Amino acid sequence: MSLIVQKYGGTSVGDMVRIQNVARRVIKTYEAGHKVVVVLSAMAGVTDHLIQMAEVITDRPNRREMDMLMATGEQQTVALMAIALESMGYKSRSLLGFQANIRTDEHRMSAKIQHIDAKPIMDLLAQNTIVIIAGFQGVDAMGNITTLGRGGSDTSAVAIAAAIKADVCEIFTDVDGVYTADPGIVPKARKLKCVTHDVMLEMSGLGAKVLQIRSVEFAKKFDVPVHVRSSFNEEEGTMIVGEDRDMEKMVVAGVTFKKDDARVTITKVPDQPGIAARIFSAVAEIGVSVDMIIQNTRAEHLTDITFTVPKTDYDRTMEVVQQVAGKIGAQSVLGDKDIAKVSITGVGMKTNHGVAAKMFSILAQEGINIMMISTSEIRISCVVEEKYAELATRCLHTAFGLDKE
Ligand code: ADP
Ligand code: ASP
Ligand code: MG
Repeated sequence: MSLIVQKYGGTSVGDMVRIQNVARRVIKTYEAGHKVVVVLSAMAGVTDHLIQMAEVITDRPNRREMDMLMATGEQQTVALMAIALESMGYKSRSLLGFQANIRTDEHRMSAKIQHIDAKPIMDLLAQNTIVIIAGFQGVDAMGNITTLGRGGSDTSAVAIAAAIKADVCEIFTDVDGVYTADPGIVPKARKLKCVTHDVMLEMSGLGAKVLQIRSVEFAKKFDVPVHVRSSFNEEEGTMIVGEDRDMEKMVVAGVTFKKDDARVTITKVPDQPGIAARIFSAVAEIGVSVDMIIQNTRAEHLTDITFTVPKTDYDRTMEVVQQVAGKIGAQSVLGDKDIAKVSITGVGMKTNHGVAAKMFSILAQEGINIMMISTSEIRISCVVEEKYAELATRCLHTAFGLDKE
């Protein structure tokens, strides 16, 4: 007998037929003698629809109330799943985040899970009940409902698996596993049998939305075995593992792109100590996190500073940066929302030279201009014009030998 957490994503519970199919799959696991905790997302499109409704009223909705609103999507699916299981003759109980004691910090719309009380879940399991928990939500110390950021049900599932010491956390989704690139964009992408935590962390952070990055952080920290697989077939998917010899041989294991960021440039900034600190403190004060930063030195003790921020924070950032630019005597502030970050990730990069040069040449051959570059030991990212994101991803995938035969 194993203790298994199964998370089903939005497409997997996208309509009533699919919800009943998931119920049958859960029952199959239960009948095989396992204890099962099911974590669910909202039906595909529901979270987007909830956000759009608020945006009809205002473009800056109250963030506490957005949590309240967005959390309702998962309330529907957990209740429907419990109804389906009961109609099939099985004992189950649905729980919202607060009922399962999923405690988070107060960060609205992207709260972090701090603690999960295993006892209420274990008590129900001991009574042979199938426990169904709403993903994506928790409760803060003041009793407010919080949500974990888009794609957060993955994190709920892995955190719950860690708390109850599950034998495995299965992430059921609409693809068969983790691929070398988004299979919807790169038809020649290959499924990976295993992906290491570190590579998956990079890929998730750089656009592979198949797993939310925080779920991978939990998996790594608490050593939770995670199996990403399809809810539409029985095939083995991808295991997320601590280390893997085969993967370590791959120079590039995956190509990803992300269109969520915007670029801000402040031109002719006085080249003096403390100036960068003033700019980035002002941005930090409004709670915006900066990703890439570059500084180009000009003649005459002037520099240009360019950085990226989430598109959703672009307007707020521009307002603040324009104020600071005025005070420090910079020339102008330019912004660009039409950018994308294209990245290659692989453990083998540590020991292979010329990977960056090859990436830049491939982009150049396609006539794609690189605006910014950043690297880590196992990743290289280039900011390019948004319209080239998919093309760049496909070309890099081919050039680094990842296409399937
Ligand atoms: P769910 O609703 O099940 O959580 P998501 O839409 O959040 O599903 O994530 C699955 C999607 O992630 C896939 O349909 C695929 O288009 C996308 N994706 C992006 N990069 C990858 C990748 N490297 N491997 C697999 N899927 C990826
Ligand atoms: N329903 C939430 C979202 O769409 C959480 C999730 O699906 O993981 O972002
Ligand atoms: Mg998801």
